[in-house]
Amino acid sequence: EEIDINDFVKRYIDSFKMKYADFKLEAKINNVDTIFTDPVLLGSIFQNLVENAYKYSHPQKKELNVTITGTKKSIVFSFADKGIGIPKSELNNIFNKFYRIENQYNQNGSVGLGLAFCKELVNFMDGEITVNSKIDQGSEFIVTLPNDN
Ligand code: ATP
Ligand code: MG
Repeated sequence: EEIDINDFVKRYIDSFKMKYADFKLEAKINNVDTIFTDPVLLGSIFQNLVENAYKYSHPQKKELNVTITGTKKSIVFSFADKGIGIPKSELNNIFNKFYRIENQYNQNGSVGLGLAFCKELVNFMDGEITVNSKIDQGSEFIVTLPNDN
């Protein structure tokens, strides 16, 4: 279905801002107005990546920049936080089911399924998900979906 990416993002970002008053959440959209996709699946991806960014950032530093960029063939969603970061040796593991990295922020209520689910959804949508991260500086998750209008 065709979704207005501005509306979609605004709705999500606003609801997260309501939920987490201390979250500095910014969204920027470049070169794209509408996208042909399933809004429920895209919403789930947003939900998981935004939740992680919040959960794995220090209390005084909860910041996330979401950037959405349209190109001829794809739409690229970047979720860049300033959180605790992920060790290089773990970057290949975090998309596995039930895989979690123990840290001060996920001692309770962490299952290790969020990223595995995101990856399943992205694969189902014929896209890709990748991550870059630096310990103590932050992480960037990049979701690329085909732009087939
Ligand atoms: P669930 O999402 O099922 O509640 P979870 O958050 O532990 O549990 P995933 O979302 O799959 O599971 O993430 C796997 C692990 O990757 C987490 O345990 C966490 O250590 C690490 N991680 C995920 N996102 C980030 C992030 N933005 N910054 C730092 N670490 C992250
Ligand atoms: Mg998670």
